[in-house]
Amino acid sequence: MRVAMISMHTSPIAQPGSGDAGGMNVYVLSIATQLARKGVDVDIFTRATRPSQGEIVEIEPHLRVINIVAGPYEGLSKEELPTQLAAFSGGMVQFIKCNNLYYDLIHSHYWLSGQVGWLLRDLWGIPLIHTAHTLAAVKNAYRAADDSPESEARRICEQQLSDNADVLVVNTEDEKNELIAHYDANDCHISVITPGADTELFTPGTDRNTERSRRELGIPLHTKVVAFVGRLQKFKGPEVLIRATAELFKRDPQRNLRVVICGGASGETSNVQNYHDLARELGVEHRIRFLDARPPQELVAVYQAADIVAVPSYNESFGLVAMEAQATGTPVVAARVGGLPIAVDHDVTGLLIDGHGASQWADALAQLLDDDERRIHMGEQAVEHAAKFSWAASAQELLKVYEEATKIDMSECHGPRQAAGI
Ligand code: UDP
Repeated sequence: MRVAMISMHTSPIAQPGSGDAGGMNVYVLSIATQLARKGVDVDIFTRATRPSQGEIVEIEPHLRVINIVAGPYEGLSKEELPTQLAAFSGGMVQFIKCNNLYYDLIHSHYWLSGQVGWLLRDLWGIPLIHTAHTLAAVKNAYRAADDSPESEARRICEQQLSDNADVLVVNTEDEKNELIAHYDANDCHISVITPGADTELFTPGTDRNTERSRRELGIPLHTKVVAFVGRLQKFKGPEVLIRATAELFKRDPQRNLRVVICGGASGETSNVQNYHDLARELGVEHRIRFLDARPPQELVAVYQAADIVAVPSYNESFGLVAMEAQATGTPVVAARVGGLPIAVDHDVTGLLIDGHGASQWADALAQLLDDDERRIHMGEQAVEHAAKFSWAASAQELLKVYEEATKIDMSECHGPRQAAGI
């Protein structure tokens, strides 16, 4: 089987944790790697952002990243990329023609790639599988009151994909229900495939490597550590953890606690300095250590150094960070939103919190910080829980979806109503 994956706005081999690179990059690379290991030929098409990248990057047997030149390498924000959809589609068509290639199906990731996939589906007469990763209508329904909304134009593009893709792949039943509720999607076209965690990389820390990780990161050895990992944007809720930290020190100024926030700015409205300023305003700047985004191989040390990982997002289609933290044996305190109730087993591998109030979050963190026995036991159970989610299993399920999709009769044509996205 030959699959054209499209990840137009961000390369699967970009460093996740800042800018436009996050869970989707990890998802695309992890699942494509596992498909390739099952013998599926996967080409991942992405927009070239540096001249040195080369057109074709061989990742491993059966897996390549194809960098398509569409617009200038630098200077275009994600919000401006809709202007390059025609150039990108044209670049893909040209590449495939020049190299005499064919594909059995297209799998697009995120709505920008979905629009390209939709065009090529009709051009080539092969099925389109689409994974949204996040949805404008869902983000708008859950965003914090002072966060900026996603555009109506994006929602319309997602509506078109919901109407025209042959299969919509989602992470959880919850996401399936959101897709039906907000986009009137046909549930026969939706497949739920749970993402995984790289349990070979994210392994439990022994006391010795927790100590080593803390030394490497410059964190005192004999303190409790709460970590946040991810892009610094309102939607991920880093300020919830900063406010909860201030609340914990207000309650007990002697508390022995450090907070580590690991990740970079995301998008045009996000600014890391705002989070430093908030920590200073609340008087906890010396208790919080900000770390730059780092590759997964180095992120392991952050998870292992932590006693708890906090995931205070306003919504998550799954929550890879929660799963990775648990794989390293660190319990998670997470918001009860989106896929997080699947990723975290409440009261067993961590705690799920309703809402984002500083006081609630301080209560939950204190509960676990102050009960070593319970927290350590949760960490042990977290490892067992995470072991149930592997990328190999996700890829196996996806392959079944692909096999079914190749049987779809592609002779039909779409009418103007679907094209309007109403
Ligand atoms: N990540 C990383 N380095 C960092 C911070 C994050 O490699 O410094 C990775 C992390 O391992 C996870 C992904 O980025 O796999 C973020 O996933 P999540 O689903 O939380 O992300 P989102 O796409 O919503 O930002």
